[in-house]
Amino acid sequence: MKSCSRCGKQKKESAFYKNARTKSGLRSECMECTKELARLYRIKTRPDTRDSIENEFLREFAEIASLCEKLLVLVKKAERDFKTAKLHQSEKELELQSASVNLQ
Ligand SMILES: [Zn+2]
Repeated sequence: MKSCSRCGKQKKESAFYKNARTKSGLRSECMECTKELARLYRIKTRPDTRDSIENEFLREFAEIASLCEKLLVLVKKAERDFKTAKLHQSEKELELQSASVNLQ
């Protein structure tokens, strides 16, 4: 048995990769930790990894969300304008009605 220098777990020698440079002939981190370290290293060094894809997605999502917000503002403005226009229309109708009343 050998303990991993990263996770500290006691594991069988077969759970460690070989490394000719160390005294024991094995890496000090277990296979799981070595894979994890390799994954972290890839993320740090390669720009086209999963993390940057997620960032890209989040950035696009934020853009879409801001566009939706702008659209919502436009819809609300249109709704307001429509209500105002209707109000003006009914005011005009009232004016016409009272004008026709005056004519009678
Ligand atoms: Zn480990």
